[in-house]
Amino acid sequence: MRAEAGGLRGVLRLTAGHRGPITMTVALTLVAAALGLALPLVARDVIEAAGAGRTAWRGVGMLVALFAAQALAQALVRYQLARTGEGIVLGVRLSLIDHLLRLRMPAHDRHRVGDLISRTDADTFALRQVVAGGFTDAVTGTVGLAATVALMAWLDPVLLACVAAVVLAAGAVLGIALRGMRAASLRGRRAAGEMAADLERALSAIRTVKAGRAEARESERIGGRAGAAYTANVRMAGFDALVAPATELAVTGSFLLVLLIGGARVAGGTASVADLVAFLLYMLYLTGPLGALFESLSVVQQGTGAVHRIEEALALPREDDEAPATAPPPRADSPVLEFRDVWFGYRAARPVLRGATFTVPRHGHVALIGRSGAGKSTIFALAERFYDPDRGEILFGGVPVTASSRSRHRAGIGLVEQDCPILDGTLRDNLLYAAPDAPDGEIHRVLAMTDLTALVARLPHGLDTRVGEHGRELSGGERQRMAIARALITRPDLLLLDEPTAHLDLESELALHRTLAEITGHCALLVIAHRFSTVRAAAHVIVLDEGRIAASGTHEELMDTSPYYRTLAEGRSLGPVKQ
Ligand code: ATP
Repeated sequence: MRAEAGGLRGVLRLTAGHRGPITMTVALTLVAAALGLALPLVARDVIEAAGAGRTAWRGVGMLVALFAAQALAQALVRYQLARTGEGIVLGVRLSLIDHLLRLRMPAHDRHRVGDLISRTDADTFALRQVVAGGFTDAVTGTVGLAATVALMAWLDPVLLACVAAVVLAAGAVLGIALRGMRAASLRGRRAAGEMAADLERALSAIRTVKAGRAEARESERIGGRAGAAYTANVRMAGFDALVAPATELAVTGSFLLVLLIGGARVAGGTASVADLVAFLLYMLYLTGPLGALFESLSVVQQGTGAVHRIEEALALPREDDEAPATAPPPRADSPVLEFRDVWFGYRAARPVLRGATFTVPRHGHVALIGRSGAGKSTIFALAERFYDPDRGEILFGGVPVTASSRSRHRAGIGLVEQDCPILDGTLRDNLLYAAPDAPDGEIHRVLAMTDLTALVARLPHGLDTRVGEHGRELSGGERQRMAIARALITRPDLLLLDEPTAHLDLESELALHRTLAEITGHCALLVIAHRFSTVRAAAHVIVLDEGRIAASGTHEELMDTSPYYRTLAEGRSLGPVKQ
């Protein structure tokens, strides 16, 4: 029974914060069960009175009152159980949502977006089935069973022993079914997660799918995942089918056994008809909780895959965001960013940065160049503290970055990524994303800086125009400038730009270079440069080669001193650099 215990333990862990509502539900269940159990006792008195030729009106009245009270208590239990179940699912969803948004970057690298979404959505839905169906039945079943068994033991221990033997035999069949269900459940939930991840992959790149005429292939591939989920679920249904005969064996088998033995004892004169009737009534009461308990074990096992995947997601490592108590203030005379002998690799023993050392002066304009894969974006990721260096130190404003919380550190940096992600919503939502309380004046300032004022004036709803998912209602250049405006609105000390002119025409590019020159009056710029015009706009150039700083200086100095830079500048061997 270890497998079942594992599933139950998972459910208990996830429901740990809901002790209050669960206790209340159990208390209500006890009341309902006690009322139900009192009925046969009163019924026995009424029958015994009838046997003696009397009509026990008080007993009949009590029967009616007990019946009404039990019906009311059962309705309350049902409502309270459902409410508790919903509360548990909400609690798990809130924890998952918050946890997934705060995962460490390597955890995001290892898990697919669709799969993580499916854990929050489909798996918590499956957990609701466990809680609403399995958990609730388990509570009512266990309480009802315990009380009925206690009364049966008091009434007739021998008959109870016969019932227990039959139930144990049925439990063995149930055990086989539960073990099979547990494995099939995890396989089914995993396949459903993969299906969601594959579907998310295809739908988020639907233009590539269509352009590659890959609809049929994607459909087949994603359909394959759906098929794997189907196979696992059908297998689970096969094991679930065993639960019905096991329950039948336990319930009907013990009922028949009691009838046979009890009937024989009444015929032999060793027991009264009233005792047998009461015992059979308890048997009727036993069948409900017993069936519910067997069913609940089955439902819990069917949900173990979901519970396992939810717990797995909740165990993924989170970003720490604690600031040491005594963080020294940034020093105004220090470089805004400094890398000191920084080593870093995404995987052990495969360093991407190999002792990178450089500084970005306050209000400096620095270009970072190097071949594709040299580690330029990795430097940005470390500057933002998405990852921590394996060795070496990163300083922001002359203070080690670890002296501040990640959140406070990131507040001083604006990041414009290569693919400029734009969020679904209006232009205003996007611009205010990092500074929700910025006044309209700030919005107009950054729009002017990024040459977007005319675009906003042209749009039907101005700043309140929706941009579509991933900003698909904007052109590539507009998306890029919108992303720059969004980063500038927080007035960062350092702006990280990944080739900001990649999607601009010549006129916009010149305008942007003027903007960038103006920005250096407010903050420092570290720009990954693929275009030579971007390199020339910078005051200082850092050349990265296989994770090492190969050279650094002004364009003129590097042209004189660095053959590698000359090669890059002449565009002979550097793919991304365009003159
Ligand atoms: P490009 O100019 O093509 O954007 P880059 O200089 O910015 O390239 P990086 O993106 O920093 O290069 O990548 C450096 C190396 O690290 C590459 O070999 C890349 O495959 C690897 N890499 C980048 N991101 C990850 C990641 N999240 N997990 C594992 N490896 C990664």
